[in-house]
Formats: sequence, structure tokens, C-alpha cells
Amino acid sequence: MELLDGRKVANDLLDTLKIEVDSLQKRDILPKLVVILVGDNPASLSYVKQKRKACEKTGILWEQINYDESITTNELIDTIKKLNNRDDVHGILVQLPVPEQVFTPDVIRAIDPKKDVDGFTAYNLGKMFLSPDFEDLPPCTPAGVIKMLDYYNIDVSGMDATIVGASNIVGKPLTTMLLNRGATTTTCHIKTKDLKANTLKADLVCVAVGKRNLITEDMVKDGVILVDIGINKKEDGKLCGDSDFESISKKASYITPVPGGVGPMTVACLMENTVKATKNLNKIT
Ligand code: NAD
Repeated sequence: MELLDGRKVANDLLDTLKIEVDSLQKRDILPKLVVILVGDNPASLSYVKQKRKACEKTGILWEQINYDESITTNELIDTIKKLNNRDDVHGILVQLPVPEQVFTPDVIRAIDPKKDVDGFTAYNLGKMFLSPDFEDLPPCTPAGVIKMLDYYNIDVSGMDATIVGASNIVGKPLTTMLLNRGATTTTCHIKTKDLKANTLKADLVCVAVGKRNLITEDMVKDGVILVDIGINKKEDGKLCGDSDFESISKKASYITPVPGGVGPMTVACLMENTVKATKNLNKIT
């Protein structure tokens, strides 16, 4: 069994991006990411902190706008419009989830696709949908999974891949990106009749649900590649994924740890998108 060491792959990517940021700075181009945080949800605060650290590491400028829980959709959209028009801003990210009264699709739609470094707008998702050649600012978590598999020379072409979880930000785009790279994909969700039958047949299982121990050792085949995207908190406060790492690691050919797997890759891909957006906006190829 080999560990898919997301932390290491992500650090390598951040080192490469730092070199790119340095060379942009020499041309007086200062990549900047603006993060909008609503409220003080502990998980969101922790994700924002990790993103800020990655900006510091790569030299990307960081600006954070904090709003109270009571913000409205229109107030958020007004802020985004101002950021869209600022030449010094290259990436805009609204930390999700936002409070119930805010209509998330309208907020996402307000972001200029050129600055949509989370890759959530219909424009960037559409490009991702067409083919890997058109991917420009892909959603960070699926992009991180693909990048990690590439790093370990895992070619998914011809593989049976089962993706558990079908959200717009992880499961669905990951399914598309794997399909576009030649995998035969199955996407499972809460209404799937027989989850085990679908995971058991797969060479590659990616799970993004948010339920501890959803995937157990008896649900995967020998030699499986297991990518665990889920993040859950155990009773002792430590993080874990959606699968039983201990027992599955005895059966798997490759497996991601949680923490230290997909999480750091997501953040690194956000930095990569910010650098890409900066270059695109400045017409640098
Ligand atoms: P979501 O709640 O939007 O979607 C969850 C999906 O799981 C849904 O499609 C639902 O149908 C499916 N599901 C629920 N119960 C199921 C079951 N019993 N069997 C099969 N499918 C089931 O969640 P999300 O935003 O996609 O996030 C999923 C998990 O991934 C969460 O734990 C989240 O914290 C984590 N996450 C991690 C990263 C990272 O960088 N590592 C990034 C994003 C999300």
C-alpha cells in the first residue's frame, strides 16, 4: 500500500507557484485573492486560515472581508461587483456555506468568471465539462484529486471509478473530470440502492459525503485506490474521513490519509487558480 501524501504534493505545488508569483512580481503584477467570510462558523474559520497561510507561502496577497451572519444576498452581490471591478483583485472567493437567508446560486453567479478561483460559476464548470483541454479554473477539490493521482502516475483511463457523493462542488465535477480522462464512472448518492455493489466493483473509489465510516473494508476490492475527501470530527476532536482507513489500508494499493490527503490539495489548487486567473487577466500565457 502506498500513501497518497497530499501534504507533500501540495507543498511541491506551492513551491512551484511561489516561483511563478516571484516572476509576476518582478513585472509589477501582484496576484491578490479576496476571501469573503460570513459569520464565525469554526470549520469555515479553519479553512480560511489554511487558505491565508498558503497565500503567505506563495506570496499571493490576501484580503479578507468579514460580514455578520445577518448579511443579505444583495449586500454580498454589491461587494462582489465592486471586487469584480477592482484591477488589483484577481481572485474572489465566498467561503461556503453562507447563512440560510443568502441565496448561494445568485452570489456565485455575481462573481466574474475570470476571477472565480473556486471554479463554481457555470462558465468555469461548463469549460471543465467539455474536456480537460478546456479546463481553466476548475473546482479546486476535484482538481486536487486529479493532480494527486497524476503525481503518483495513476492513469485512470479504462478504470472503473465509483464516486460516492454528488454535490455540485465535489462529487459531480469529480465524476466529470474522471470521465473526461477515460474512467468509467458511477456516481452514488443518498438515494443509491446498493452502495456496496457500486464500491466493490470499482478500481478507484472517491468518497465525499461527510459521514464517518461510511466506507468499510468489506465494501472495497483488493488493490483498490481509495481517495477519501470527507472531513469529519471524532469525539476526541481529531479529524477523520468517510472511510475506515485502518482496515482499508491493508487492502488498498493507494489510499489518502485524512488529514493530509485531499484537504491540502484543495488549498494548493486554489492558489494555482489564483495565479492562473492573474495571468489570464494580464494576458500572460
Ligand atoms: P454535500 O453535503 O453537499 O453532499 C453530500 C453528498 O453525499 C450528497 O450528494 C448526498 O446525496 C451524498 N450522501 C449522503 N449520505 C449518503 C449515503 N449514506 N450514501 C451515499 N451518498 C450519500 O457535501 P460536500 O460539500 O460535497 O462535502 C462532502 C464531504 O467532503 C464533507 O465531509 C466535506 O467536509 C468534505 N469536503 C472536503 C474538501 C477537502 O478539501 N478535503 C472539500 C470539500 C468538501
